[in-house]
Amino acid sequence: MADEKTIFEKIRDREIPADIVHEDDRCLCFRDISPQAPTHLLLVPKTVVPRLTAADESDRDLLGHLLLVSAEVARKEGFEESGYRVVINNGPDGGEEVPHLHLHLLAGRRLSWPPG
Ligand code: 5GP
Repeated sequence: MADEKTIFEKIRDREIPADIVHEDDRCLCFRDISPQAPTHLLLVPKTVVPRLTAADESDRDLLGHLLLVSAEVARKEGFEESGYRVVINNGPDGGEEVPHLHLHLLAGRRLSWPPG
């Protein structure tokens, strides 16, 4: 039977390596393998919610936790004052490649708006 784990579940399960900067009982935060900014982190829930539009009421606490952890990590990485961007790519037009909900945290350079 084919391995149906997402790449992020494999990182969670330590089947493939990642540079992990935060872990708790509900989420994992690690450096993106293809950084789009000097600091590019991915914050991933340990349970698989495919994307934001697949989340429901039972995910409310988890979603709040992810946002709070993103701010905590940004502070720890030193971007509270300079600023940073949090992005969730949802579906094909949103640029989603991995069907496992994740927040991108981008920092370390002035980011343009609107995004490409
Ligand atoms: P998406 O396009 O789905 O929003 O973002 C997926 C992200 O996962 C991309 O930024 C991509 O570079 C990152 N990524 C894909 N495979 C790996 C991997 O094996 N390790 C790490 N650390 N990041 C990955």
